Amino acid sequence: MSLRDPFKLELARRHLVNKTVCRSCGVTNPPKATKCRKCRSKNLRPKKTKGRAR
Ligand SMILES: [Zn+2]
Repeated sequence: MSLRDPFKLELARRHLVNKTVCRSCGVTNPPKATKCRKCRSKNLRPKKTKGRAR
């Protein structure tokens, strides 16, 4: 699948960014989440996007 469409690319990138990751169990959570959906931990961090510039 090729992603040449800039709009779709931006959309996809935004969706990837729009997540939080639990520091305890590593599961991804919704951006609005304050607690982990799996282990209920509050130890969440925003998903990193560095290293993948394209
Ligand atoms: Zn967790």
